[in-house]
Formats: sequence, C-alpha cells, structure tokens
Amino acid sequence: MTVTTEKKWHAVLANLKDFLEDVNYNAWFSDLKFYKYDKASESLYLIAPIELTKAQLENRYRDIIISKSNEVMGNVRNVFFFLPEEIEKNGKKHKGSRDFDISEEGLMNPRYTFDTFVVGENNRFPYSYALYVAENAESPNPSYNPLFIYGGAGLGKTHLMCAIGHYIIDHYPDLRVRYVSSEMYTNDYVSASMASGSERTEHMNAFKAKYRNIDVLMIDDIQFIESKTRTIEEVFWTYNTLYESGKQLIFSSDRPPKDLLGLDERLQSRLSSGLIADIQPPVFETKVAILKNKAILDNIPMTDGLNEVISLIAEKIKTNVREMEGAFNRVVAYSTLSGLPINKVMARSVLHDVITQQDIVPTPDAVKKSVAAYYTIKVSDIESSKKARTFSFPRQLAMYLCKEMTNLSLKEIGNSFGGRDHTTVLYACEKINGLKTNDGNIKKILTELENVIRNN
Ligand code: ADP
Ligand code: MG
Repeated sequence: MTVTTEKKWHAVLANLKDFLEDVNYNAWFSDLKFYKYDKASESLYLIAPIELTKAQLENRYRDIIISKSNEVMGNVRNVFFFLPEEIEKNGKKHKGSRDFDISEEGLMNPRYTFDTFVVGENNRFPYSYALYVAENAESPNPSYNPLFIYGGAGLGKTHLMCAIGHYIIDHYPDLRVRYVSSEMYTNDYVSASMASGSERTEHMNAFKAKYRNIDVLMIDDIQFIESKTRTIEEVFWTYNTLYESGKQLIFSSDRPPKDLLGLDERLQSRLSSGLIADIQPPVFETKVAILKNKAILDNIPMTDGLNEVISLIAEKIKTNVREMEGAFNRVVAYSTLSGLPINKVMARSVLHDVITQQDIVPTPDAVKKSVAAYYTIKVSDIESSKKARTFSFPRQLAMYLCKEMTNLSLKEIGNSFGGRDHTTVLYACEKINGLKTNDGNIKKILTELENVIRNN
C-alpha cells in the first residue's frame, strides 16, 4: 500500500521483463497493476486488466511472480489476482458496510488444505488436533478450545489454519468462518475506531459484527499484536464473546503463549487454556516428501534430475519449508523458461545464493577423479607411488584439494592415497600452498579444479 512497496513492485516488473520473452511480458504483464501488499500474510495483491490475463497469470506465472517478488521485496509467498471491478466493488462496500476485506475465502490460500499437507513426526500432533477441531466445528470440544498452534517461520502454521477453514466451509456450509492475520485484525480495528462521530459507532458495530457474529475465528501470527494495548484489549473481548457462546477459536504464533510477554496476562492465560500444539522443523525425509508432493501438485514429471534436486534442496535448506518451496519454484521456473532439463548442476547455479559452493563437501574419490581427468591420467596413477612429475604433481594437487575441500585429517587423506604417511600429505599441501602464492597459473588451475569438483 505504501509508495515504497509499489516502487519495489516496479523493480519486480523490471526483473520479470528481463527474465521473460518480450512477447510474454507484453501480453501478460504490461497492464498488471499493483494493488497492495499485506505484510502479515506475506501476500501481494495485483490487478489484472481482464479475466483472460488473470487466468494466465494464475496458471502460468504465479510461481515466477512469487519468486521474483521475493528476490526484490523479500517475504512474498502468495499472490492474489483481482479484476478492477472486484476491487471497486470492495471499495464501495468499505463505506459503512460490514466487509472490509476482499472475500474472506480469498484470504485463505486454496492450496492450503489437509490433503496437501504432508504429515511427519514434526507435525503429527498439530495436524491431528487441527483435523479434530475442523471435524467438530459444529460443537467444539472445550478441551480443544482455543487451539493454539506455534512454531518457527515457514513450518506450516498458516497452511494448517487454512486447512481447518477450508474443511469447515466444505463440510459445514452453515458455519461462519473467519480467518485473518493479526495485522488485518489490527487494521480493521484501528480504522473502525478512528472514524469520527456517528460513523464511529457504525464502524465499530460493523467491526464487532464481523468478529463476534461468527462460529469460528482464526487469528494468524498473534505475536504481532504484542504491545498493541488497545488491540489486545479488543481481542480479549472478542475472545470472551465467542468462547462464552461455545464458538471455536484458533490462533497461531511463532512462540508458545507463555512467551508472548507483550500480551496482557488475561489474554495470555486464555490462549494457554485450550490445546497447545507445536510444529517442529521437519527431518530430511519429511522435507523430501513435501517437495515430492509439491511436484505432483504442480504437475512436474518426476525425473532422476528432479529427484536429485529435491534431495539437494532438502539437504541444504535447514528448516523453513517456505524457503524450500521458493528454491524449488526457482529451479522449475528457470527450467521452464530456458528449456534446460532440471538437474543438480543447473539447480546449483540457479540457487547459488541459497546453496553456497562452500557447502558442498566432496569425497576424496571425487577429488582424485577430477584431477585425473584434468591431467588425462588415471585415478590409479594418482594413488600409485610413481615418481614421474606427470603423476606426482597431480597427486600433490589432489592431496592439497582434499585438505582444502574435505573435512578429512592428513592421516585420512594419506590413507586414501594408497596408504601414505600424513607427513607426505603435509609436504604436498605446503608445496602447493607455496606455489599458489607465487604462480598465478597454479592458482587458476586450482580454482578451475575446485569448480569442477563441486559441480560433479
Ligand atoms: P508458517 O505459517 O508456519 O510460517 P506456512 O503455513 O505459510 O508457514 O508454510 C510455508 C509453506 O510451506 C507453505 O507453502 C506450505 O504449504 C508449505 N508447508 C509447510 N509445511 C508443510 C507440510 N507439512 N506439507 C506441505 N506443505 C507444507
Ligand atoms: Mg504463517
């Protein structure tokens, strides 16, 4: 909404223009307008001129827009497209009517359902609690109320909440569900309470109706209201009203309630009074399963190359599933647009900022193989004790590279070079080090070899 975000959006467009074929850019992006950015849900709202453009953008360009926006603006994980008339309708509604937002369902990403949620050890309990709450939304079980889900960034909190929302809307169409980020809630409250005179009463009543006249309330990222005294107070009253009439409440946060020190104690204790579920970071296998599932959902055929890339991403990106998906999207988008097949070498270059080369630890065999190939000799020559310089020099280079690139000790390196003594390895390393500082050519060879080794 701010000028700066809009400016950043222009930078995103410029990037897309460089990245896409002119025909495509001109056809779909030249009339695409920025509407707003919502920080809490990390969503970008854009206005497409006509239905056809909107459909194309949604189907073909969604991921690339997210990925490019992320590069420029950071923190963009959703993009929603609207037509000018949809926005207008909404603007009109704004004046004194009940709805401030773009369609409530629109706020819940349609992809975030139980079906698309991969269950692992890290999220088994939150998942089953969420499902239970969704199934029992008609008459909530007091011991599951409120449901409080917490966990680090990108671990699936919003996904689970939206899954609950979609489930309830599908199975209990009569129930009124409201999902908001705490920022939206705050904005609603602030704009209602800032109105003046008789309008204020009207706006406050509309605000209360919106949040109290419902069956299920979900507030995402509740930690953002910390220290906002008046919003906290309002959440407290909203909570009480709903809770007392037996309605389901669901919250998420990056921390458990006891650590939300900027909330008032009354609200803190209410948030702790139901069921608390924490999502842990996924292990490697779960990360792989999540990405494989995503490939299926995105209709990307599984190939050996894609498999490799999935393992690479799962290995390199420690916990954040959103970052993993972002990396995955970038690789896929690059492949789609360049026509190159998806594989590890390509992924490493596309993801150079995420996967630093230094991360890749080669084996001594990989080192020996690359050096042997470079000097067109055999690996067995490198391992042998042949004294001719044709063999001894590459051998010393390979030892040096092992010392630099693997975490092995001199002794272990010696062992992998035909059981040599560690002092021999040390001698080789010192020699190459000396050469490297005086001989530009050696330095170049070493850099080249390091690259080859890392990319093999
Ligand atoms: P949070 O709200 O905890 O920051 P999100 O719910 O936004 O995280 O999840 C980030 C991304 O990772 C989303 O695209 C979501 O679909 C995906 N994701 C996270 N966990 C899972 C999971 N277990 N299965 C499938 N997708 C997941
Ligand atoms: Mg979230």
